[in-house]
Amino acid sequence: MDYIEQKIPPIREDRLKACMAYGGSCEEINRDAKKGCLYNNNRKFSQSQGCQLTLSLAILNTIRDSVIIVHSPIGCGANLVAQAGVSKGFQKLRDPNAFGLRWINTNLNEIDVINGGEDKLREAVLYAEAEYRPRAIIIMNSCVPALIGDDIEAVLDDLRPQVSARLVPIHCEGFRTKIQATAYDSVYHGILRNLVGDEYRSEELIEPLFPDEAEELKRQYKISRTVNILNVSSMSRTDEQNLIDLLAPLELNIRVLPCYSHPDDFADSFEAALNVSICATHDDYFAGHMLTGYNVPFILRTIPIGVANTNKWILDIADFFDLREKAEQIIRNEVIELEKAIAPYKEILKGKTVILGGGEIRIITMAELLHSLGMEVLGLRGFHFDQYGENLLAELIEEVPESERVIMNVGTGQPFEQANLLHKYRPDLFVGHPGGNGWANKQGIPVFPLFGQAFQYMGYIGVYEIARRLARFLQNTNYSKNIGRHARLPYRESWYDEEPFAYINQEEEVQA
Ligand code: SF4
Repeated sequence: MDYIEQKIPPIREDRLKACMAYGGSCEEINRDAKKGCLYNNNRKFSQSQGCQLTLSLAILNTIRDSVIIVHSPIGCGANLVAQAGVSKGFQKLRDPNAFGLRWINTNLNEIDVINGGEDKLREAVLYAEAEYRPRAIIIMNSCVPALIGDDIEAVLDDLRPQVSARLVPIHCEGFRTKIQATAYDSVYHGILRNLVGDEYRSEELIEPLFPDEAEELKRQYKISRTVNILNVSSMSRTDEQNLIDLLAPLELNIRVLPCYSHPDDFADSFEAALNVSICATHDDYFAGHMLTGYNVPFILRTIPIGVANTNKWILDIADFFDLREKAEQIIRNEVIELEKAIAPYKEILKGKTVILGGGEIRIITMAELLHSLGMEVLGLRGFHFDQYGENLLAELIEEVPESERVIMNVGTGQPFEQANLLHKYRPDLFVGHPGGNGWANKQGIPVFPLFGQAFQYMGYIGVYEIARRLARFLQNTNYSKNIGRHARLPYRESWYDEEPFAYINQEEEVQA
């Protein structure tokens, strides 16, 4: 993978042939994915979809000692302003002196659409530098400047000699892609081009020209034991710490990137033996470029959610360093404790039905977890589907053969399809992305968040916490039932009589 010389990264539709519309079963999508044509699927009607600028902000809001400039009309990304408090609190968990979120919007208007917005961008960058003196100024490009032809790279090249902050352009215009996860590539593209490399080392990190031989050997040894764990902004600090603690017996040097990092943390991130992803959807662009540019191998297989996938995650790392025996010991100890602890909760959860919605990696692994607790998974709704989802789903089907029959729907947003599915199957529980759970609640379906930055979801303790919370939650679901009694969704009754995937053009139809 090598797109780093390009100013703008490719979109996922082109790079990964990612699919954004599907309706069928897990068995069918797995079969169709092998034909390689899922990316042709489309919709005759589309209700909503996510914008990559918003998702880019979910990572960039976490970067410490930086200022974010959203170069756009005032509304872009505004829904994430609500994260200001969360970002500040979680930044402080890493560094008590962290400033939290600092945002500037260039507030483009109709006149700027005609005259161009470059002057406003220039003014915003100089203001951010003078007012905050941050280590990095991150500039988000949106639809409007992209459409009117603002050359933000040229503006920033011109400004670089005038500012001490590193300038990091992120090309995340929403109109370019229907796969919102393209945001992760846009963010990593900006980071790789502007924060990674010897030239970005802060003074204390600059290696002496003639290093002492013993010191150099120590440094090389440390690099050979260094693992970059690529975290996600949807996980909690406790999840992060739990994973670090789980790996402690392997005696590796763990570096956690990119969320909640300081801009300087990226400079020498290529000095590592291995990159380990927590979510392939999030990290394949970074890991691929680290391999191509710096020869750092990677593991992108799964997210450590549920016993089976946590085991795989740990064993893959251990195998790389030839430490399988130690890893098996960790797993044995943890699983024995866990099984005892969750036994009473399994009794409560046994036979409860569930539909899940969210990112492909999370829903597939969460489905495995819920199945292991005795629940019956009826359906999965993925935001998109690509080779990483395909591999994980194939493993799930192999390990839990009844997963073949589970319904599979692919679509970012598209709440009308979700509403139809939930109306038809009436599961005991919907596990979904916190941003869209209100829709299910209005149908009277109890909802449980697929992730939460204040809770534990990962590793063995994550299994315990999910089981404990679910068992408690499902004992009284009157809250959702009451909402369902008094609220309604904006669809006609006739929509619920139709097939949930009636508006999806699948590959056969496209060819016909
Ligand atoms: S789609 Fe474009 S205009 Fe809309 S929020 Fe995203 S970047 Fe802004």
